Amino acid sequence: MANSAHPSQQELAALLKREDFSDVYAQADQVREQHKGNEVQIRAILEFSNVCRRSCRYCGLNCHNGKVSRYRMQPQEMIETAQAASRAGYRTIVLQSGEDPYYTPEILGEIIQEIKKTGMAVTVSCGELPRRDYAYLKACGADRYLLKHETADEGLYRSLHPDGTLQNRVECLRNLKDLGYETGSGFMIGLPGQTEETVAKDLLLLAALGCDMAGIGPFISHPDTPLRGLPSGSTELTKRAVALTRLLLPDANLPATTSLGVLSNGEKNDVFSCGANVVMRKVTPDPYKERYEIYPAKLGHTDIEKDRRELEEQIRALGRIPL
Ligand code: SAH
Repeated sequence: MANSAHPSQQELAALLKREDFSDVYAQADQVREQHKGNEVQIRAILEFSNVCRRSCRYCGLNCHNGKVSRYRMQPQEMIETAQAASRAGYRTIVLQSGEDPYYTPEILGEIIQEIKKTGMAVTVSCGELPRRDYAYLKACGADRYLLKHETADEGLYRSLHPDGTLQNRVECLRNLKDLGYETGSGFMIGLPGQTEETVAKDLLLLAALGCDMAGIGPFISHPDTPLRGLPSGSTELTKRAVALTRLLLPDANLPATTSLGVLSNGEKNDVFSCGANVVMRKVTPDPYKERYEIYPAKLGHTDIEKDRRELEEQIRALGRIPL
């Protein structure tokens, strides 16, 4: 399949439904080794605000959830955290938040400029912004932008996002790509109403966008959202989607997602042999970390230096090289 440039939606859906997927996994692992080598790139992620103006029905941070204790990190604290991450050996920091208008492009731009002095690459993940704001952040030194399309099925997208459209999400991604960002998209596995056919659409959208990165993670139900009580996404289907993404986009950076690790640490390790080559580690300081609850997860205390060393060890134990 790696050789056929454009598998159809039906072909991809049929692959996803197969009884035995082992040959595709093996192929994805081979393509990963050829195109990305044996390094696993470790990224720091700083979740700097859990304030959000949106009402995405799956997300614990949606603006209707009154149970969240909201926080905003101040620029100086963000910069100091980033500097600590750099000292610990991180080469990339992801700055992520809800859609929080408090952080104007000017404020974010200054933070990015300061963090860039450490030499780290900066990824921004703050949701949908007008093209001019993306352009401004790029001019301030942002290297990458992460904005998952979440689901490529129009109807499903509409049912989950009362205040957004798939068209606008895709428009944002095209703007980012056009502005020269390394552009990351991705989607969730196990959203209510999702089928192998819609996952096939997700894969084809990643390919059509020519994504440089793609995060694919299982949905995990949050008790304080309209999707409370629903089952989590399948870890097997998550791995299959990652493997097929590796074949469609051989050069992409594909993380073993945090949500996959929440459901199963073993499966998260396993996905590194199914095409994944990236992992993110939270550097969000303790008072805030547990309040950035997109989905429920058990979190330990943040010790930037020690956490990084531990992760490096885990990667070496898998026979791979931490970077
Ligand atoms: N506001 C930013 C960051 C969103 S949070 C943005 O819009 O891009 C980062 C990612 O967490 C989302 O893109 C989504 O894919 C994922 N996410 C949100 N709720 C989730 C849930 N309940 N289970 C699993 N992943 C979830």
